[in-house]
Amino acid sequence: MNIMKVVVILVVLYIVYRIVRMMGRANVEKVKAYRVDDKPSAGEDLVQDPFCRTYVPKSQAFMREIEGRQHFFCSRECCEKYLSEKK
Ligand SMILES: [Zn+2]
Repeated sequence: MNIMKVVVILVVLYIVYRIVRMMGRANVEKVKAYRVDDKPSAGEDLVQDPFCRTYVPKSQAFMREIEGRQHFFCSRECCEKYLSEKK
């Protein structure tokens, strides 16, 4: 029967489409993970969070002056945790 062949071809095409989409998504995640794990390069202005030890771009960092020195955090939460641990 011809219609069965058409249905089989459509199902196969759909499966291939799903696999290609899944692979595409996996690649995006790989690129993201690579960027997060990447060591700070010379051109970028990165600062280290003294609480969780992650590097954050200075423009996105949460800055707080503590005892006359500027401290940079990845988030307000880290800043608050750092301050409460210092006490
Ligand atoms: Zn942090």
